[in-house]
Amino acid sequence: SSVMAKSKFEYVRNFELDDTCLKNCYIVVRLDGRNFHKFSDEHKFIKPNDNRALGLMRRSALSVMEELDDITIAYGQSDEFSFVFKRSSNWFKRRASKLMTHVTSQFSSSFVFYWKEYFGEQPLLYPPSFDGRVVLYPSNQNLRDYLSWRQADCHINNLYNTTFWTLVQKGGLTTTEAELRLNGTQAADKNEILFSEFSINYNSEFPMHKKGTSLIWEMVNETSTKKIKRPNEAETEVTVTRTRKKVTAHHCDIIGDQFWEEHPDILER
Ligand code: ATP
Ligand code: ATP
Ligand code: MG
Ligand code: MG
Ligand code: MG
Ligand code: MG
Repeated sequence: SSVMAKSKFEYVRNFELDDTCLKNCYIVVRLDGRNFHKFSDEHKFIKPNDNRALGLMRRSALSVMEELDDITIAYGQSDEFSFVFKRSSNWFKRRASKLMTHVTSQFSSSFVFYWKEYFGEQPLLYPPSFDGRVVLYPSNQNLRDYLSWRQADCHINNLYNTTFWTLVQKGGLTTTEAELRLNGTQAADKNEILFSEFSINYNSEFPMHKKGTSLIWEMVNETSTKKIKRPNEAETEVTVTRTRKKVTAHHCDIIGDQFWEEHPDILER
C-alpha cells in the first residue's frame, strides 16, 4: 500500500546492480554439479556411465523446461546441463541473476525430489548442489558452436572414460596404470585399444553416453481412451487423439546440420 511504500531504509535498493541480459541474444544458463567426483563415488555410481544418475539429471532438466518459461532447448552430459532461453524472451525482464537462480534451484530441488524414482532405496547421503552461470550468444552460429563445444566435450570425455574403465574393469589394470597407459594417446589409439584388446567397437556404445541428451519441445499425438456414459445407454469407450506440446529427449548428433534442419523452430531468425 502507499503507506507501506517508502521507508527511510528504502534507499538501499539502489545498491542493486543492473544485470539485464543484452537484447536479441540467446541466454544460456549452464549448471554443473558441485564436487560430483566425490558425490558419484559416495553414491556408488556405475563407472563410466551410471544410467540412474543420467536419468535423474534428465528428469530434473525436464522439470526446469516445464516449470520455467521460454527455454527452447536443453543439452546435458555428465553432471552438467545447459538451458537456452529464446533470444526474444522477456522472462524476469531478462535479469541474469533471476534466470540463473531459478534454473539452478528448480534443478537442484528436482534432483532431490525425484531421487527415489531413479535410485530406489539407495539413500541420498547429503544435499547436493549445482553452480550456475549465464552466457549470452548473439548469433545462431555462436549458439550452435556453444552446443557443439559441449557435445564434443561429451565425446572426448566418454571415449577417455570408456577406455580407462575398460582397462581397469576388464584389463585388470589399477587406476594409476590405466592413467599411465592413456597418457598422450589420441582418439584413434583409444578406439584401437578398445577394439583389438577388448573387441569393443566404440561406435556401438550407447548413443546417450556418446552424444549426451538434448531436450526440445515437439508437437506429439497422444491417444487416450475415454469412457462415455449417456443416460439410458450402456457405457462406451472412445479413443481421443490430441496433439500437444511435449518435451522430447534426443541422443543424436547436434554438431552437423541435420538436427537443426529437422527442428527449424529452435533457432530464431
Ligand atoms: P566441480 O565441483 O569443479 O564441478 P566435479 O567433481 O563435479 O568438480 P566435474 O568436472 O564436473 O568435476 O566432473 C563430474 C564428475 O562426476 C565426473 O568426472 C564423473 O566422475 C562423475 N559423474 C557425473 N555423472 C556421472 C555418471 N552419470 N556416471 C558416472 N560418473 C558420473
Ligand atoms: P515471487 O515469485 O515474485 O517472489 P511470491 O508469491 O513468492 O512471488 P513474495 O513477495 O515473495 O511473493 O511473498 C511470499 C508470500 O508467501 C507471502 O506474501 C506470504 O503470502 C507467503 N508466505 C511466505 N512465508 C510464509 C509463512 N511463513 N507463513 C505464511 N505465509 C507465508
Ligand atoms: Mg568442473
Ligand atoms: Mg561438477
Ligand atoms: Mg561437470
Ligand atoms: Mg517469493
